Amino acid sequence: MELAGNLKSSIIVIGCFHGDEPQGKYLIDKYLETRANTNLLFVPCLNKYGFENCKRTNKNGVDINRNFPTKNWGKTDYNDFFGGDSPASEDETKFVIDLVEKVKPRLILTFHAPYKVVNYDGDAREISEKISDIIGYPVEESIGYPTPGSFGTWAGIERNIPTITLELDENANLESLKIPVFKIFEMLENY
Ligand SMILES: [Zn+2]
Repeated sequence: MELAGNLKSSIIVIGCFHGDEPQGKYLIDKYLETRANTNLLFVPCLNKYGFENCKRTNKNGVDINRNFPTKNWGKTDYNDFFGGDSPASEDETKFVIDLVEKVKPRLILTFHAPYKVVNYDGDAREISEKISDIIGYPVEESIGYPTPGSFGTWAGIERNIPTITLELDENANLESLKIPVFKIFEMLENY
């Protein structure tokens, strides 16, 4: 788990929670190549093992986005959505918790796929609408199914940090995604 960009920023952007959703990492890496400096703090690839093995989960078979110590965390079946043996059992989860506690961000953007929605938790409606205007996906406050132990619940609902889960189109060509996503980053540079 490496950091990139502006280490003093209070806006965190996280790519690749799920290793089989590599779009965020690609877009962050490409964006950073184009800029001499940035006001944003990036975690380009949270789930390195998953990315390298094209798997949703981490090396322990845990879905990091179900491993956060939320009030609704619970032990689940061992499948692709397995939330771990205990909340925050995973290094990736601990890394994000430590980062958020240290940075105290005023906004967090995470990348996922494939639902083509701008999902948000906490007080992020207005900024979600701006992102929606750029990328053309609808804004949704809830993803439509329960996500116990999710990062959005932990950060957005339980800690009141505006948290956006941007679900990209997995069928879109990565080059074409650069256009709206770079515009979103540029908007956030001045946010
Ligand atoms: Zn995902």
